[in-house]
Amino acid sequence: MTTEVVNFGCRLNIHEGEVMRAHAMAAGLDDAVIVNTCAVTAEAERQARQAIRRLRRERPAARIIVTGCAAQIDAPSFAAMPEVDRVIGNKEKLKADSWTGLDPVAVGDIMEAREAASHLVEGFDDRTRAFLQIQNGCDHRCTFCIIPFGRGNSRSVPLGSIVDQARALVAAGYAEIVLTGVDITSYGADLPGRPTLGQAIRRLLNLVPDLQRLRLSSLDVVEIDGELMRLIAEEPRLMPHLHLSLQAGHDLILKRMKRRHLRADAVRACAEIRARRPDTVFGADLIAGFPTEDEPMFQATLDLVGECDLTWLHVFPYSARPGTPAARMPQVPGDVRRERAGRLRALGERQVAGYFDRRIGGRARVLVERSGTAGRDDHHAPVRLADAVSLPPGRLVATTIVGAADGHLIGRVAA
Ligand code: SF4
Repeated sequence: MTTEVVNFGCRLNIHEGEVMRAHAMAAGLDDAVIVNTCAVTAEAERQARQAIRRLRRERPAARIIVTGCAAQIDAPSFAAMPEVDRVIGNKEKLKADSWTGLDPVAVGDIMEAREAASHLVEGFDDRTRAFLQIQNGCDHRCTFCIIPFGRGNSRSVPLGSIVDQARALVAAGYAEIVLTGVDITSYGADLPGRPTLGQAIRRLLNLVPDLQRLRLSSLDVVEIDGELMRLIAEEPRLMPHLHLSLQAGHDLILKRMKRRHLRADAVRACAEIRARRPDTVFGADLIAGFPTEDEPMFQATLDLVGECDLTWLHVFPYSARPGTPAARMPQVPGDVRRERAGRLRALGERQVAGYFDRRIGGRARVLVERSGTAGRDDHHAPVRLADAVSLPPGRLVATTIVGAADGHLIGRVAA
């Protein structure tokens, strides 16, 4: 039997999943399942509990170990599940000696975490791009968000460790690395000399010349530093695809969310980035039905999609998280949240369709994924290879876009 890792949630969890797999194997845990939970929404937590029950049925003899943000925030309720053997905290899960312990609950105070240790990950079992953690935790306290209580305060991985990890991943054959964390735009604030995210990326790209594609996870629009803006404009290895943590389009809602930006800041940042790199494609996190949101306020979010020309929308119907200030505000009815999320997703689909139309006839450099017949291009667009071509995963290939179908661009491999 093997150690199985079941990740929920973000890219940071996927990175940490590989760290835990190595620790568990080294500890001789050969018949175990690690469930790496997420707490961002009530639905994510429900799915983790459901998975735990299913895994116990499927693997009656395995040791089931639960970790991740939901376990960090509410360890007793997971420890109380008869299916669960151990609960390990988000800080403890990255330490090798946590995996040799037998205590049923090993969860410390995450707010005591002071460092974001870097763990050399050999690879990502079933993935073509590698996730590299550069930061953990968050110092902000957005009123809807439970993450800081699962991840602690912001802390950065020293640049030297990031460079070592990137070199190891490039040597292992990864053409693309995704820098991940919880709030990566706060990178460096806790390090000597307070290097900015842009400065760190500049040094990383200089020190790892063989890295072909670098992609960033979510950015806070008002925390994009000058050096990062310059890199966006001039660095071809930095992918022209930026995912923005926008959340809403109405200033009063943004204030009630305790976000650091206003609508005009988002519009200005997108325009400034496009002025420097016109083919940049934006993704964005958007919440529908935040407490007190009325129809005109929601319309402001819909309008923002067009004004910033956002393409890849990650839409979340607001989910009240226990203990957050927003959960105590006047709630929008659940069916209204879901209906608004449906409208936002439909708008997102129209945005993608329009974007695909504009891409036909153009070119795309595709990183071929596991299937061998599809992958993603520099703009994170999903591209299926035309003419039933199949290529080795991890190959970067030049294509001409000849059409679009089933949520994919169709790319003909250049002769
Ligand atoms: S920036 Fe806000 S939404 Fe993002 S992790 Fe921090 S508190 Fe949560």
